[in-house]
Amino acid sequence: MPPPPGLCARLSPGIRRVLAPNPSPMTLHGTNSYLIGTGDVALIDPGPNLSAHGDALLAALDKGERISHILVTHSHIDHSPLAAPMAQALGVQVYAYGPTSAGRSPQMQALADTGLIAGGEGIDADFTPDVWLADGETLAHGDWSLTAIHTPGHLSNHLCFALQEAGGDVLLSGDHVMGWASSLVSPPDGDMGAYMASTRKLAASDWSIIHSGHGAPITDPATRLAFLIQHREAREAAILRELAHGPTTIAALTTTLYTDTPPALHPAAARNVLAHLLDLAAQNRVTAHPGLGPAATYTLR
Ligand SMILES: [Zn+2]
Repeated sequence: MPPPPGLCARLSPGIRRVLAPNPSPMTLHGTNSYLIGTGDVALIDPGPNLSAHGDALLAALDKGERISHILVTHSHIDHSPLAAPMAQALGVQVYAYGPTSAGRSPQMQALADTGLIAGGEGIDADFTPDVWLADGETLAHGDWSLTAIHTPGHLSNHLCFALQEAGGDVLLSGDHVMGWASSLVSPPDGDMGAYMASTRKLAASDWSIIHSGHGAPITDPATRLAFLIQHREAREAAILRELAHGPTTIAALTTTLYTDTPPALHPAAARNVLAHLLDLAAQNRVTAHPGLGPAATYTLR
């Protein structure tokens, strides 16, 4: 059963979660917003610009508490749009890696400049943080301390946040690591090569638990991270097997490889296939005719 939106769930002494009322095939029950610490509290991912959700976040505070910092994992419309209005109303600042295109690889920026790889699903185009956090930078205030980990892949400006608790290191993973689904990787904002590198970087640390942007906590982080890496490696291997039969298209690959995926999610699956093919092209393992893009024919080198 999904938790009711608007109710505050205390996950540990220093972590509260409030579900936003925006369920959809892409967001599961809705976006998880997190309140970190006590007293002066950090808000991670305010969520969609819904006044009811802003009210629920303020109602989750205890008497005498306030939101002192607003942090954003990435600028998708289900995570960041409420950040600016809340920050303005509360007189606080918004902290994130940068605007949407920040952190793009040169390859993805070049593809974006051609206009051939139009993505843009769910992008909060107006998002600009007040303070830009670098990879490894720690933000500490009151009784909490959060370290930013740049994890491009789902979105180039995606940050995860590490929080030290008595039981071990906690990861606030946004949409990069989720328990209910693998992440959408849709170029040029998403980047499969970057996604794999970011996931391997996270897997190198020992996390006690992961709290993600959608769905329930991940209580066995090492197993989940290993699965996500293996899942993408298997998908890449399956694409290469299909290409070994001869040139093919993204539409044909999606139909063949995503037989277990509901049709409503096939457009998102096709973006994942495109992400794999761009990564393989960057590795000089496939060619595209007439050029890289969603409608091209792909051939094994
Ligand atoms: Zn997202």
